[in-house]
Amino acid sequence: MAQLFKKIKRSVKQLRKPIDVFLFHAVSDEYDEKKYMLIDWSHTDDFKNHIHTLKSRYTFITLEEAYRKLNSILPRWRRYAVLTCDDGFASVLNILPFLEGEGIPITLFVNPKYLDGVSGRAGYAENQQYITHDQLWALTGSLVTVGMHGYEHDDVTKKTAEEFDWSVEKCKEILQSHPRYIPYYAYTGGRHNDLTQQILRQKGLVPVFVGSKLNKKFQDAIRRKPIDSFYWTMTLQKLL
Ligand SMILES: [Zn+2]
Repeated sequence: MAQLFKKIKRSVKQLRKPIDVFLFHAVSDEYDEKKYMLIDWSHTDDFKNHIHTLKSRYTFITLEEAYRKLNSILPRWRRYAVLTCDDGFASVLNILPFLEGEGIPITLFVNPKYLDGVSGRAGYAENQQYITHDQLWALTGSLVTVGMHGYEHDDVTKKTAEEFDWSVEKCKEILQSHPRYIPYYAYTGGRHNDLTQQILRQKGLVPVFVGSKLNKKFQDAIRRKPIDSFYWTMTLQKLL
């Protein structure tokens, strides 16, 4: 009996297709090195082509729906995908109408420190490329959700427990008043450690990594694959 149960469990596991969670950053018609790092950028036409390619192979769902499915024991016959965008570059505003037309939900992971239209991240010569507070709060449609990317865009593995705790709380305090806020935390550069994981768990936040491991069921985080032009061919080859 135990053997039969194991066998059934194994076959159900095989029937559960992984959910691919994609990540991109800046999208614009022209590349400007003062505004974006090349690895974080896609040309608008390329981005749209990438999305069309993915749409022909996947059913796009929200991050929350993916989380529910990853926690469910039910089989998944279809290939599901989720689209996420990190850093809150204002360029995302240009492609939201396109995504809406395609019926694709998106989660924006932002650093609230830069929403004032003045502050910027270290290493960037110009900083007016971030979405502002008013622009972000104007996004109330059902296809957009807003998650956390830390208060600032920094390496959280270099922080003490108190510093990380402060950063998460500050980030949450600002973003949770957004009507489309979701309690998900995407680590900057995917960097994390046991301590940061423990703190997110205590706060009931869902961690989001970057990494090649498949999302078959929810374990310690949701893992994402970058689809910015720099990574596109590499990511596509592994997927299709
Ligand atoms: Zn980032």
